[in-house]
Amino acid sequence: MTNNLKVIVIGGGHNGLVCASYLAKAGLSVQILEARDSVGGACAPIIDNNGNKLAGLAHASYGLNMQILKDLDLPALPIQLSLDTISLSEDGSHITFANNSVSGRKISERDSKSYRGFIEEFKKYSEALDVLTTNIPPRLKDMDWHDKKTLIKIGWNLRFGLGKKLMREFLRVGGINIFDVLNEKFDDPAIKGAIAFDAVLGHKMGPRTPNTVLSYLQKISFGENNSLCRSDNLSTLLEEKAKSLGVKILTNSKIDRIIIEDGICKGVKLESAEIFKSDLVISNADAKTTFLKFVGTEYLDAMFSHRVDSIRQEGAVARINLCLKALPKDQNLEGDKLFQRLIIAPDMQYVEHAFNHSKYGEYSDHPILEMIINRVEDRGPSVNSITATISASFAPYDLKGGWGKNRNLFVNRVFETIEKYIPGFNNLVKSYELLTPCDIEEQYNCVGGHWHHGEMGIDQSFMMRPVHGSAQYKTPCKNLYLCGASAHPGGGITGLPGHNAAKQIIRAI
Ligand SMILES: Cc1cc2nc3c(=O)[nH]c(=O)nc-3n(C[C@H](O)[C@H](O)[C@H](O)COP(=O)(O)OP(=O)(O)OC[C@H]3O[C@@H](n4cnc5c(N)ncnc54)[C@H](O)[C@@H]3O)c2cc1C
Repeated sequence: MTNNLKVIVIGGGHNGLVCASYLAKAGLSVQILEARDSVGGACAPIIDNNGNKLAGLAHASYGLNMQILKDLDLPALPIQLSLDTISLSEDGSHITFANNSVSGRKISERDSKSYRGFIEEFKKYSEALDVLTTNIPPRLKDMDWHDKKTLIKIGWNLRFGLGKKLMREFLRVGGINIFDVLNEKFDDPAIKGAIAFDAVLGHKMGPRTPNTVLSYLQKISFGENNSLCRSDNLSTLLEEKAKSLGVKILTNSKIDRIIIEDGICKGVKLESAEIFKSDLVISNADAKTTFLKFVGTEYLDAMFSHRVDSIRQEGAVARINLCLKALPKDQNLEGDKLFQRLIIAPDMQYVEHAFNHSKYGEYSDHPILEMIINRVEDRGPSVNSITATISASFAPYDLKGGWGKNRNLFVNRVFETIEKYIPGFNNLVKSYELLTPCDIEEQYNCVGGHWHHGEMGIDQSFMMRPVHGSAQYKTPCKNLYLCGASAHPGGGITGLPGHNAAKQIIRAI
């Protein structure tokens, strides 16, 4: 490895911070240039128009992968921040998912047992795939020994880790959709609705879409060792860690172009025209922004540019930041329950119908929702109101007629929906802010404002993520790498793209 190389990381999202920290730890001189006024990307806290400090777009996560916590000596998210998932029901018979079990008034013994078995089975599948998630995805052509080693490990894990019977079952369910799998396993529509919700959250997919077993597996694989938590303070922790390792951070520094000379990446030019020269450039921005804007098609092979241009990355999740006059008083959400992760996805048909509208550029009158109300003690000194955050799924980027006049109508649909499950909610809303996928695109500098910086269909996953030709964090431009969610294994707060990219870079230099 060549020490003292100068590295520029474009973007200080959590993956940029993780990648930069690994590289600084390995002795490289690292500079992060971030367009926004703070680092953290989509997990940086949001200050609303009333000055309230709210969780970033990513308000609930399993936290960073355990290996990253260990390598960078970072604490796991504290247990006080952990969240149960409560799936709301109109008649108040909500169900709670906690510690790998499901409970609620109407849950049968059979379903409760099936749920434990289901989670156990799916955790085994995700363990078998773990080697793929935490490693550079192997090339299938021109393999080196790292690629061969990873492939052998995957094969071994599937065949001997799972055993013959479970491997066969994995191959069967992996190819179908979550809708069919859940119908085989459970009777209760609410259990099926809630699991289907998680399988499609952040994706433009419905429960009947192929690959939704894989998207669900991806979600639970990240939670292998951690429980679901509020993601508060994660970006601060990562920023402090990066700085302590010697990473320099400049905010309000928006990159305009990557400087390419003779096919080799030499540094970056900011929108302010300032130039930063470097030996390596690593982009935490999405693949479309990186290749089509920063590099430019004139430096890329036509087929490669076409593949990048064709990445499906129209966002489908809107964020609503809320100020409430008072906490909802609901006898079915007494005590701590109000502050858990509340979801509205009463059954799989409901989820599928909500998705169907988004296919035609519409939002549903019955959206699927995830809401987290802040605890009073979590609000911190700068917070002066009761706040909540909502992820509203299937809010299409390319809404028919545009978002302009539809903003209030959409938010009203969301509030009317919550009202059915938490009576009195509507009257408690003091103010709100809506971030549509178009707003997210603009404010977070990500084409399409997509949760994962690109859909996670099988054609855009693993050794095809983001596209063939840049799937191992390397790119067609020498000394330019990717380290964000558009690279394997995709989005969510895991740090894995940043970790895997650092591994690849350290191996390559
Ligand atoms: C509405 C919404 C809700 C979500 N909720 C959750 C959730 O609850 N849980 C969860 O786990 N995940 C959630 N996600 C997904 C998660 O936030 C992302 O997958 C994750 O943040 C990706 O991390 P990243 O570091 O790769 O990229 P980002 O967080 O997008 O960071 C990229 C950084 O690069 C910077 N950048 C881009 N272009 C430039 C430029 N020209 N110059 C300089 N800097 C630039 C950006 O400003 C940004 O700071 C959500 C996403 C959305 C959109």
